[in-house]
Amino acid sequence: MEELWDKTKIILVRLAHFNKRGRIRRYGVPFLLTLFIFSLKEYLHGFFGEHSAFLLASFTVAASSWYGGLGPGILATFLSLIAIYTGYLITNASSHPVTGDLVLSGIFLLEGLVISIVSEARYEMERQKDEFIGFISHELKNPLTAVKGFSGLIATNAKKRNCDKLKYYGEQITYQADGILELIDELLDVTRIEIGRFTYNDSFFNLSELIRETIKHQQIIAKERVIKFYGKSKKLVYGDRYRIGQVMTNLLTNALKYSPENKKVIVKVKENTMATQVSIKDFGIGISKENQKHVFKTFYRTEDVEKKRSEGLGLGLYVTKQIVTRHKGNVWVQSQKGKGSTFFFSLPLQK
Ligand code: ADP
Repeated sequence: MEELWDKTKIILVRLAHFNKRGRIRRYGVPFLLTLFIFSLKEYLHGFFGEHSAFLLASFTVAASSWYGGLGPGILATFLSLIAIYTGYLITNASSHPVTGDLVLSGIFLLEGLVISIVSEARYEMERQKDEFIGFISHELKNPLTAVKGFSGLIATNAKKRNCDKLKYYGEQITYQADGILELIDELLDVTRIEIGRFTYNDSFFNLSELIRETIKHQQIIAKERVIKFYGKSKKLVYGDRYRIGQVMTNLLTNALKYSPENKKVIVKVKENTMATQVSIKDFGIGISKENQKHVFKTFYRTEDVEKKRSEGLGLGLYVTKQIVTRHKGNVWVQSQKGKGSTFFFSLPLQK
């Protein structure tokens, strides 16, 4: 149910992006909708009774303004009002008072105006979100990337000159900058998912190889941790290698983050004829049954994690779920509080 709602939301948001559409398309829709809907009036009139005209007109206005903005919304209001008058009200004028018709029409005009303004406002919000993405990408990410580059240089130079303290400072700046960059990327990903601009680039790739690369990368950051990898996948998976890499990184960093330094993490891959399944097992704090239901939601973090003030926004698993679902796969967790967690994800194999 939740997934269906997510998909509907994305479609609605995409439809509301009317700056991408030309005038002819935007203003053509109210004409077409009015024509189409009022050509069905005989059938719908029988079904909805005497108020069908206003019901249909409201729909025409809502759809037109969502698709085209304020102008097309107002155009739809006037067009459908004309259609109501000529198609319904005049035809059986003797059966009701004219003043009633006028009051109804006035209310409808007001309604059409409100609907059009609300959808324009909604679009304005989306536009501001786009601006926010642009702002974050350029104004925050670029300088941070520069900070990271320079701190890397400091660390390398300090190493050459045997200056341990300076090397440590350089590494710390890089580490912290990486943390902030990760948080910014997560926020950007969630915003992009919500407005339907999270892109995928599909190809065939070997999942075992990708897992090995991810583990290797994590091992550079967490040198002391033991990460075991078992299993092999021979068949190629079809999907976005970079995004599935994101899934692996999210699950692996969580396993490392939420388990003690002296405990290992076990990654396993196995495949059958239908799918490839990956599991990431840790022996850390675990997640209670109740909390397991919520961990894939945005900004959700368990109380234990919040208390410890460990880094994170509670977005990684949401992004993970969105990516896996997009690949027609599944992601789930088995866990016992205090004993550890195993996160699984499976990806279907192409037939
Ligand atoms: P973040 O880790 O940034 O808080 P996530 O979306 O990745 O965000 O995870 C959401 C929450 O789920 C975490 O805050 C934590 O409470 C819980 N969680 C995720 N992975 C684990 C794990 N391996 N062990 C215990 N708790 C976990």
